[in-house]
Amino acid sequence: LTENTYKPLTVESAINLAINLQLFTNKENLVCKEIGDGNLNLVFHIVDNEKQKGIIIKQALPYAKVVGESWPLTIHRSEIEANALKTHGEFVSHLVPKVYHTDKTLAITVMEDLSHLTIARTGLIDGQNYPLLSSHVGEYLAKTLFYTSDYALHPFKKKDLVKQFSNPELCKITEDLVFTDPFFDVDTNDFEEELKDTVREIWKDASLKFEVAKLKKQFLTETEALLHGDLHTGSIFASITETKVIDPEFAFYGPFGFDVGQFFANLIFQVIVRTGEQRQVILNHLEKTWDIFQTIFTDSWQKDCLEPFAEIESYLPYILGKIFTDSIGFAGCELIRRTIGLSHVKDLDGITDIKVRIAAKKTALKLGRACILYRHKINGMEDYISFIKQNI
Ligand code: ADP
Ligand code: MG
Ligand code: MG
Ligand code: MG
Repeated sequence: LTENTYKPLTVESAINLAINLQLFTNKENLVCKEIGDGNLNLVFHIVDNEKQKGIIIKQALPYAKVVGESWPLTIHRSEIEANALKTHGEFVSHLVPKVYHTDKTLAITVMEDLSHLTIARTGLIDGQNYPLLSSHVGEYLAKTLFYTSDYALHPFKKKDLVKQFSNPELCKITEDLVFTDPFFDVDTNDFEEELKDTVREIWKDASLKFEVAKLKKQFLTETEALLHGDLHTGSIFASITETKVIDPEFAFYGPFGFDVGQFFANLIFQVIVRTGEQRQVILNHLEKTWDIFQTIFTDSWQKDCLEPFAEIESYLPYILGKIFTDSIGFAGCELIRRTIGLSHVKDLDGITDIKVRIAAKKTALKLGRACILYRHKINGMEDYISFIKQNI
């Protein structure tokens, strides 16, 4: 059916592939466009104009392109992504795209067309509020994390999954870009001249760097659950009624709090750029994410926990407390790295007025630093929200 050597697809070969896979019958009605961001992967959108039915073919490229430079990157991540969509899909099928077909050699995933939805980051920047976003993401986090952990899986099964989702090259990107580079004076960093003094303070801040080192160690060593690994608002499709999480190519076994923290941080960028009632909408999302996460994690624990120690009353509150504290720390790292590291967010970079942009970035850095340093002192979501308001 498909090739036995890797080759990047073209709009023509993508159509042929879709026909060969019998996803469509009539080639004449098909329109194909490459719609990816072009840094790491190709994304082909094929639509049958007559039947108004579409599919997506995502293909990994064997290199990553960043500001003109290019480095090799394993196409095995495509298999990781497809397997993560399937594994997470066992627990939250309504919150991820359906996978129709995969091909290891071509490094492709053929999946459900979600183009009726909007990337949450884009929509949020445009002022959309997505009332169900936080309930859906809270549910996604609770179920994907709990049900892939030792609390829900036989230890042999869990350790098999840890192996299956060994993802060293993509993890290395996170280790460098999230946990290391922003805290040192290295070339990959990228920030405005106006931030230089603030950034130098970060590089000199030994107590901050000690806390980041601890968080990095957790990322490196805590194989708690199958993470999405890149859960920012650009990996989430949304509408008023639906939410779908895409793009888990960074999936691996890591600490519970990492996905939660990345999502928190990406909401916090919107807290920073919005004002008044619109800001409150996002703070409510933050609160709701944690509320739903805790509720569903607790229900799942009570229903399906295999751990005999689960009967010890303090155990679950201890686990939830640890996830919360870790999440705040990871959120802090994400706030900083998206502001001064290699990979930025449009929430901040899209602010055209330089004075406003620099002020927003300084706020992100201040908040990021505070999250990392004081995470152990924050007692619950209400406290976290006052803490954010104080530091903004
Ligand atoms: P990358 O890993 O390169 O960031 P993504 O999986 O995030 O790739 O996809 C890049 C873009 O392609 C998305 O922002 C979205 O616009 C589009 N896209 C990806 N998957 C789908 C899908 N299932 N349906 C519709 N559009 C999609
Ligand atoms: Mg992208
Ligand atoms: Mg993406
Ligand atoms: Mg990606």
